[in-house]
Amino acid sequence: MPDVLPTDVSDEEFKKWVTEKWGYKKLPMAGSTPAGTAKFFRTGDWAAKQPRLIVENCTSCYKCYFYCPDSAITMVAGEDGKAHPEFDMFYCKGCGVCAYECPGRKGEKAIIMEDLK
Ligand code: SF4
Ligand code: SF4
Repeated sequence: MPDVLPTDVSDEEFKKWVTEKWGYKKLPMAGSTPAGTAKFFRTGDWAAKQPRLIVENCTSCYKCYFYCPDSAITMVAGEDGKAHPEFDMFYCKGCGVCAYECPGRKGEKAIIMEDLK
């Protein structure tokens, strides 16, 4: 296995490389891992809460998109033709940062956190 992180390989080859070089038994002290490996971690499994969009309060400001620490938000066009967040629960760990940062409209949040059922 090469020591330098390969960049021109398929996802499967990259995952194999990460597993063999950085499997949990081989993780270095302090837990530093190579860039680009986050996509293989199902951080959504940690979640106890999930975000819910209240679209009428969304002003399409993109704050939630920029602040999400796990890149779990995609902005997609809604029925009104404007961009609104969509949450990927594979990666969303339910941290609530998006809801906290959301300015909403007229003091009403466009994202609220709910218990995960
Ligand atoms: S709850 Fe946290 S991880 Fe999930 S979409 Fe919001 S900011 Fe991202
Ligand atoms: S932060 Fe709130 S208002 Fe801004 S795009 Fe996200 S949901 Fe909409």
